Amino acid sequence: MKKNALDMSFDELKSYLAGIGEKPFRAGQIFRALHRGLDFSEMTDIPKTLREKLDGDFYAQSVTIIKSLVSADGTEKFLFALNDGNVIEGVLMAYKYGSTLCVSTQVGCRMNCAFCASGLNGLARNLSRGEILGEVITANRYAGGDIAGNRKIINVVLMGSGEPLDNYIETVNFLKLVSCPEGINVSRRNISLSTCGIVPKMYDLANENIGVNLTVSLHSPFDDERAKIMPIAKTYSICEILDACSYYFDKTGRRYIFEYVLIKGENNTERHANELIRLLKGRPCHVNLIRLNEVKERALKGDTDKQAYKFLKLLTDGGLSATLRRKMGEDIDGACGQLRQRYIEKKAEKAYNI
Ligand code: SAH
Repeated sequence: MKKNALDMSFDELKSYLAGIGEKPFRAGQIFRALHRGLDFSEMTDIPKTLREKLDGDFYAQSVTIIKSLVSADGTEKFLFALNDGNVIEGVLMAYKYGSTLCVSTQVGCRMNCAFCASGLNGLARNLSRGEILGEVITANRYAGGDIAGNRKIINVVLMGSGEPLDNYIETVNFLKLVSCPEGINVSRRNISLSTCGIVPKMYDLANENIGVNLTVSLHSPFDDERAKIMPIAKTYSICEILDACSYYFDKTGRRYIFEYVLIKGENNTERHANELIRLLKGRPCHVNLIRLNEVKERALKGDTDKQAYKFLKLLTDGGLSATLRRKMGEDIDGACGQLRQRYIEKKAEKAYNI
């Protein structure tokens, strides 16, 4: 069976090539070409016999764009197909200082948060390291980017579908691959991993010394209320999450970020603001408030901009570092898992002739 070439580290590619009697310098050539997003047939500086051998053993490309939606604000959402027919999504956000790509780490998700579309059909499967990398490489090539100095994607955020720490080994190896100097080489300082708070894995990640930014989806300062919108909160308390964040900071020196989706009547009152301030004041952290992107299958509602700014002011007046994330991609099913959900629905309609 063909393997995904992007699953290989530089060293693994080197030993594969040594094993078939190729010269070591080919490894750099092929690794760079793979990270540019080239198919074997496009690697014209490689002898044809070697290209054919590689093509027999590997897929060079693991992720293809089957649909792209551009929002009025310039955000672009991709529906990616994997080689086994599964689909995932990614979002490209253009900022002044370069583009940020939001990648998925799983097909679907097991976490089933009450506001999120990714968990609607549960987890289909984990993505491999090379498939997560494939999202970055495919989007970078699509955006006209290359590797080295001509990369278009500057930042990568693991905030698409899936829980990265629920696919720990592949995620960590992806982080190593995407920041590999011989390849696409995204700076680890420009990578953010977002978790719903799987505490033991947060410690493991800190101990890897990879140095990416850690973001935690908090969404409530009260354990009982948090558990109503995030089932994982029944397993790990906020107190345990905060301890793990402190450990991460001690190990990496990197300030951590809390994401907080504003849900009408659920988590954005003065009582919530006061408790957030009590919990977080003085910590090396930032709070990123996010307006809810309403998901039609979910009952929760977003709140007004006025309420969002009021909540923000309560936090900043209370001494927290906090910002309200600007709205992006609402018109293109911008939130986690929404586009894939539409795609699955349409496929089902076709299958059942509805
Ligand atoms: N599983 C990880 C990463 C994926 S979710 C995590 O939980 O952090 C990434 C972020 O998108 C989370 O903060 C999540 O709460 C947010 N999100 C998910 N659905 C959303 C929606 N409908 N509207 C706004 N933000 C959403």
